[in-house]
Amino acid sequence: MATDLLDLIQAKKKGEALSDEALHYLAYAACDPNSPDYQLAALLMAIRLKGMDERETASLALAMAKSGHVLEARVGGLPLDKHSTGGVGDTTTLVLVPLVAACGGKVVKMSGRGLGHTGGTVDKLESISGMRTELPEEEFLAIARAVGCCVVGQSANLAPADKRLYALRDVTGTVDSIPLIATSIMSKKIASGAGALVLDVKTGQGAMMESLEDSCALAAEMVKIGENNGIQTTAFVTCMDEPLGSHVGNALEVKEAIEVLRGESGGPLLALSYELGAEMLVKGAVYQDHGSALNALKQALLSGAGLEKFRQMIRAQGGDPAVCDDLSLLPQAPIQIPVLAPEAGFISAMDTCLIGTTARDLGAGRKRKTDRIDPSVGLVLRCRVGMRVKKGDELAIIHANEPLKAEQARESLLQALSFSAEPPNPLPMIRAKIQRIENKTHTSFDPVFARQEN
Ligand code: URA
Ligand code: CA
Repeated sequence: MATDLLDLIQAKKKGEALSDEALHYLAYAACDPNSPDYQLAALLMAIRLKGMDERETASLALAMAKSGHVLEARVGGLPLDKHSTGGVGDTTTLVLVPLVAACGGKVVKMSGRGLGHTGGTVDKLESISGMRTELPEEEFLAIARAVGCCVVGQSANLAPADKRLYALRDVTGTVDSIPLIATSIMSKKIASGAGALVLDVKTGQGAMMESLEDSCALAAEMVKIGENNGIQTTAFVTCMDEPLGSHVGNALEVKEAIEVLRGESGGPLLALSYELGAEMLVKGAVYQDHGSALNALKQALLSGAGLEKFRQMIRAQGGDPAVCDDLSLLPQAPIQIPVLAPEAGFISAMDTCLIGTTARDLGAGRKRKTDRIDPSVGLVLRCRVGMRVKKGDELAIIHANEPLKAEQARESLLQALSFSAEPPNPLPMIRAKIQRIENKTHTSFDPVFARQEN
C-alpha cells in the first residue's frame, strides 16, 4: 500500500480527513508487528484530538473488520445481533436472545467477557455446567440456523487490528474518543456478520459514558457506522445509575434470566429486554411493527417458548439444560450474608460502579486478564433507587466464598447506597432512541426524561 504512518499522522495533526486508502492502511499497519507502536499511538492521539468524520469512521470500522475473518452468517434470515457498551446486573442478552429466537428471529451473537466493573455474557454462560462458548464457525452457524440462536465468545481472528489499537489506546490516554470507541465496537459487529443490530449504550454513573450528551453522541456515531456498512442499526441509550436487574454475578445473573424466562420475575430487566428484542425483530424484518413484535415476545414468555429456546441453545452448546428447571444445579456460594439498612429513609442513589467492583472483588470479575472468576459469587439487591426502607430492612444478600471477602463486600455495598428523607426523582430507564430515518440520524428522547431536564 502506497502510504506510510508518518503521512497519516501529519495529515490528521492538521485536522485533515484521511482517505479510505489511508484508513485501510492504518488497519493493515495495526496488524503488522513491524509498524512501530509510537507511530500508531501518535496517530491515535491525533485522531483523539482532531476527530473523524462520518465517512472516515465507516471506512475505518470496515477496514478493521477486514483485518481479520469476516463471518458470512447464512442462517436462513437476517442475522440479528445486540450489543451493550457494558452494564452492571445487566443480563438482557440471556433474556432476549431466546425470546427473539422463539419469535422466529435468527440470533448470531459473539459476546465478550467481563470488563472493568461490568459483567460479560460469555462468563455468565460458562457458569452453566458443560457450556461451550468457543465453537468452530460451522457449528456456531448450524446451531443458529437450527435453534434460532447461538451465543459464543469472540473468535481469535475477529478484527485483529482492534486488538492492537485498543491495547495501545489503553496505555496512551486515547480510550475516551467517540470515533475510536465507535469504530472499535462496530468493527467487531461488522466482522461477526450482523445484518440487523440493536445497540444498548449505557449512560450514567456506572457507564463508560457518564453524560447523556456523550452517550447519545456515541450511539449516533455507531448507528451511522452500521447503516453506512449495510447493517440495520438502532441504538437505545439506557440508564446505568443503578444496576438493571437485581442479581450481580455470573451464576446469579443466569439464575435471574431463567427466573424472568419462567415468568417468575420481571422489572426493568424484562422491560428493557422486550424493548430491545422488539426492535431486533422489526429491524430484522421478522415483524412489521413494534406493537406486533412486542406482543409476540410477551406470548413467547407466557407460553414458555422462550425458556424452551434457552434449553435448546444450552443443549446444543454442550451445557446442561436441566438448569432451566432446577436452579440448584448452578454453582452456589458457600457463604450468604444479608446487608441490613443502617437507617430509615429512601434509597436516593446507588454508586453503580462501586456495586460492580464489589461483585468483582468477591471474585465475579477479573482485575488482571489472567484472573480466574468464581461463577458462584456476587450479590442480590433487594432494593432499588426510590424505595423506602426501615432501619434493619434487608437491602441485599452477599454471596461469597470467604468470610473476610463477604464482610468487605457488605461494607462497600453500604458505601454504594445513599439515603435521603425525601423520595428522589425517578430514574427513567430508556433515555433516548437513535436510528437513521430517511438518511438522517434521528434521536428521540424519552418523554419522562424530556420533562425532567427541560
Ligand atoms: N469496547 C470496545 O470494544 N472498544 C472500545 O473502544 C471501548 C469499549
Ligand atoms: Ca447508507
